[in-house]
Amino acid sequence: MQEITRLVRVGLPEPPAKLKPGDPIHSGPVFASAFAAPGEPSASPYIYTRFNNPTWQELEHALGALEGGIARIFPSGMAAVTAVFAALLRPGDIVVLPADSYYTTRVITREFFASFGIQTRLAPTANNAQVDVLEGAKLLWLETPANPGMDICDIRLLSEAAHRQGALVAVDNTTPTALGQQPLALGADISVASDTKSLTGHSDLLLGHVAVRDAALDAKIERWRRLSGSIVGPMEAWLAMRSLATLPLRLEKQSQNAQAIAEFLASRPQVGTVYYPGLPTHPAHLLARQQMRYFGPVVSFELPSRAIAERFLQASHLLVEASSFGGIVSSAERRARWGQDNVSEGFVRLSAGCEAIEDLLADLDQALQASTAG
Ligand code: PLP
Repeated sequence: MQEITRLVRVGLPEPPAKLKPGDPIHSGPVFASAFAAPGEPSASPYIYTRFNNPTWQELEHALGALEGGIARIFPSGMAAVTAVFAALLRPGDIVVLPADSYYTTRVITREFFASFGIQTRLAPTANNAQVDVLEGAKLLWLETPANPGMDICDIRLLSEAAHRQGALVAVDNTTPTALGQQPLALGADISVASDTKSLTGHSDLLLGHVAVRDAALDAKIERWRRLSGSIVGPMEAWLAMRSLATLPLRLEKQSQNAQAIAEFLASRPQVGTVYYPGLPTHPAHLLARQQMRYFGPVVSFELPSRAIAERFLQASHLLVEASSFGGIVSSAERRARWGQDNVSEGFVRLSAGCEAIEDLLADLDQALQASTAG
């Protein structure tokens, strides 16, 4: 069965099994904190929702199939990131992070894990620079494309290098989703994502997941979740399942729109560098074509100044100014307003939604003209 068919049928019985007469086509969320569980606890599939829940299980089954591994859901992308660090790292361990990763991943290692004796080494995503600082590392953390600079690294090459040094490899796969790029198939041990973004895509819930191939590794992640209580409510899991069914439609449209927007912006004299892996001018375009199935919704670009970027965002009628990406509605923000990324004052991160591309391009055109006029 093709992946798209599997995703559209998420939550339905696997063929040749069929729904029973009177079954709802899509089941609802199971709102239960506790389940009837007499006698030996191992005899009951569900006991207590901090351990397991039927709605989670359906979603995890679908995510596992998409990733090619075993998936565990978490209440946000950061809860998933934290689960990997907490489950695998111990005092004295070294983690190698991208210097240009999503900034909260760097902040949490600096503010919390460093005080538990975990050392962090930073190197850029571009040119696979992390390969040079692997010696003695326990965990190599990749993020490709990196948010917000859209640099790309070679997952296969870095995984092989890290494995030679005895390090595990985790990839933050938020931007492309597992439909757009499959870290486990490319040799990584762990695929982590904020499913708040494209995977669920409606800007209405926070979610994350961790996927692995190895059952022993999964047991450590599951143990952390069970003990820490870093769990997802059934309603969020159910909403995510509804959204997952349309991921192929959304990601394809968003990626087409992002490509057209990137090409449009690159042709405009008011715009400086455009960062999008689908552009032939991206320094790692050929690598991106090899390891990604979709280039995803995020296009970053430089406007000449903070004032022009602010006027551009104000003048746009269709871009919601918001600090997230991957939603069905296009959005953008001036990234330097957070002060945590190494970007210029006029750097804009745009997320292409599912609108008609003619409307988006016309809107961007008028917003660029209004922001640079006079
Ligand atoms: N990883 C990346 C690449 C992100 O962009 C984000 C959020 O923007 C996260 C992780 C954290 O996800 P969440 O906000 O769902 O905790």
